Amino acid sequence: MRIVFIGPPGAGKGTQSARLVNYLKIPHLSTGDMFREARAQQSPMGRIAEQYMSEGKLVPDKIVLDMVNERLKRPDCAHGILFDGFPRNVFQAEALDQALAQLGAPLDLALELQVDDKELLRRLGGRGRTDDRPGVVSARLNSYWQQTRPLLEYYRGRGVLESIDGLGSMDEVFARISAAIEKRRTERSGV
Ligand code: ADP
Repeated sequence: MRIVFIGPPGAGKGTQSARLVNYLKIPHLSTGDMFREARAQQSPMGRIAEQYMSEGKLVPDKIVLDMVNERLKRPDCAHGILFDGFPRNVFQAEALDQALAQLGAPLDLALELQVDDKELLRRLGGRGRTDDRPGVVSARLNSYWQQTRPLLEYYRGRGVLESIDGLGSMDEVFARISAAIEKRRTERSGV
């Protein structure tokens, strides 16, 4: 299955993604993790990305798309993939659709993890990541509301959107996610 995972910072996407890729045995493509790795290695791309990450801004689309397209060439992506933190805006979503169309492997599902802002701010306050400082957190939430949320309409229009309630225990949330996946599988096989 090819899945896009959408949710604001602090929604629990990272935790649920790890469980999901283990459940489905598919590779996990997290652009945030890839940028953190590039930053740690101090590669030229990592240094550029860092300037945006440290301010809670989106890294420019060209940098993101070059990195993702490179990753998609690897053979492990052939049978499914979980995109986490990508796409982040409609331009990236259109580019992803094109790349997947070329591979003859369209998207099966866009999962939205819903958590309200009050709870997000509470969760992000306790994490201690360098981009979890209050000013940066609000910039990340703003970029989510302004640039990423329009993706929900985009994917709803394509009939692939499923929204999941992100409140509750990790197990409860995962049970909702796996139910949405199984539902989609059943629909696809026409049972
Ligand atoms: P979170 O969802 O918690 O904000 P991520 O780990 O997905 O965090 O991303 C961390 C940072 O990396 C983002 O704030 C942004 O600067 C950059 N980033 C990650 N993915 C993308 C993307 N698809 N497009 C642009 N910037 C991205």
